[in-house]
Amino acid sequence: MKHIKFLAVVALALCIGVSLNAKPKIRIIATGGTIAGVSTTSASSAYTAGQVGIQTLIDAVPQILQLADISGEQLVNIGSQDMNDEVWLKLAKRINVLLNEEGYDGIVITHGTDTMEETAYFLNLTVKSDKPVVLAGSMRPSNAISADGPANLYNAVAAAVSPACKGVGVLCCMNNQLLDAKTVIKTHTIDCDTFEGGPSGIIGYIYNGEAHMLQTPNNKHTVNSVFDVTKLDKLPRVGIVYGYANCSPLPMKAFVDAGFDGIVLAGVGDGNFYKDVFDVAVGAQNKGIQIVRSSRCPTGPTCLNSEVDDAKYHFVAALDLNPQKARVLLMLALTKTHDWQEIQKFFMEY
Ligand code: GLU
Repeated sequence: MKHIKFLAVVALALCIGVSLNAKPKIRIIATGGTIAGVSTTSASSAYTAGQVGIQTLIDAVPQILQLADISGEQLVNIGSQDMNDEVWLKLAKRINVLLNEEGYDGIVITHGTDTMEETAYFLNLTVKSDKPVVLAGSMRPSNAISADGPANLYNAVAAAVSPACKGVGVLCCMNNQLLDAKTVIKTHTIDCDTFEGGPSGIIGYIYNGEAHMLQTPNNKHTVNSVFDVTKLDKLPRVGIVYGYANCSPLPMKAFVDAGFDGIVLAGVGDGNFYKDVFDVAVGAQNKGIQIVRSSRCPTGPTCLNSEVDDAKYHFVAALDLNPQKARVLLMLALTKTHDWQEIQKFFMEY
């Protein structure tokens, strides 16, 4: 009897020991991009994105196994120029299941850099968990000299296991920096140091495998977002029209004729239209196609009722969102309402 009691105590101690030492459970979801790209030679800039699979990415950075209990899955393997609504919906739904039903502690998504900011912002509005969700990519293909993918993946896992990265919304991890989904923007076509965090700068950084946060986002996201993709199998159609001197109204007309639900203007300056485009925009808004004014300027807000009388025309001002992120928010907003004032409120909150 004494012997059995002793064995039971040892077993209990072992269980407690194992659970105390248990590493966080992190799932890596691979979607492609340059991080999974292969170039013709290690010194060549000619390459194809989305070539190698998730296991190859994990095998390239065995150090992540010291940080977490790692498993991976391949959602798609594409260059992120081919990212679309269908993949976004699949990704958001999958993350919600992994975090809320399958006991994962955090998610890392490998992704091309071209549209990483849009995916990050879409997930920021649709993931229903405060656990870390971190996107990582690379600017050099997997077999390049000094490939940046492995370090970015290691840092992303370090962020995903960090309590400091809980409750701050979706993050991008590139070049040792942490950037928040709302402000992150790709600024350079080929440099490794391409991502910036807008006027407020980066949200944190990774040093020696540890996340250090510098600020907290003050917009609504994740668990505080009203947007729910659970029952959605498609998103409203929203296009972007680019503004320039002597701008043709044809692209705006084409979206109207094709029955799009909303149009974002990448306007000049403070979201201004060329006069011919303005007339088409007023007609579109009167037909119930929501117009959102954003700007082609890389910095600064698009202000409400400033040079354009938004209240008169029922246009919405994108405020701090660039055109590609304004499009993401407008698509989700249109799943909830077609009231321009309600949509403007979303742009103030998210
Ligand atoms: N165009 C590719 C993509 O976005 C490569 C860019 C990158 O990943 O850096 O997937």
